[in-house]
Amino acid sequence: MSGPESSSLQAAVASAVATGSLLTAATLGVFHPRVALFGPVVWRGPTTRPAVALTFDDGPDPRHTARIADILEVHQARATFFCIGRQLELHGALARFLHASGHQLENHTYSHGTGLDLFRASRLQKDLRRCQDVLAQLTGSAPSYYRPAVGIRNPPVHAAARDLGLTVVTWTHSARDGVFPLTPHRAIALAGRARAGSILALHDGQLRGDSTLREQTVRHLPLLLEQLKERGFAFETLSSLLRS
Ligand SMILES: [Zn+2]
Repeated sequence: MSGPESSSLQAAVASAVATGSLLTAATLGVFHPRVALFGPVVWRGPTTRPAVALTFDDGPDPRHTARIADILEVHQARATFFCIGRQLELHGALARFLHASGHQLENHTYSHGTGLDLFRASRLQKDLRRCQDVLAQLTGSAPSYYRPAVGIRNPPVHAAARDLGLTVVTWTHSARDGVFPLTPHRAIALAGRARAGSILALHDGQLRGDSTLREQTVRHLPLLLEQLKERGFAFETLSSLLRS
């Protein structure tokens, strides 16, 4: 995807490379969701219709996922869940429920490794394929999209995605609810930043620590949805958003 903001970011990366700041360039390319330094990345959908894609990472989670699905149902919203393979093996019924409810389930790796997995394409490919297989068994079809763990992108990440025919997806705006609680202020701010075609990143799972952060996501998700609705946005799955 391209656009004025991504162009200026690409320019910043190019400038960093030109001035020899390779570390700056690599850091921007690895972490910034819009920079396609190492390979193609989808960070937003077409801007022609007032629709956004809500995405939830790190589930399915027995404490939060069904509650999030209930809130989505109240707002007649369909979302995309980037699932972790080992969570799917533990909570397959939740995954089937999400799929049957019209939500989209995609690949967020099997193990959510952020160590060596990210630096060896063959190892990462094996991990991704394992998640593909689990999801295919649960939903009847293999995923098309892959969101890397922690959004990190490097050459092995893109090589593994390419080999499996997966499209790498990041986000337009993140709730950052993996680190900070989703307060009413943050929910309103996130809704305010959304534009037509935005891909919004949240979490339904919580890999470490207690569930305080995720409780806040569940608590203030309705406010986020109401604010987005008030601004005239429809909620679509990623496939639907990107197809339009
Ligand atoms: Zn994650």
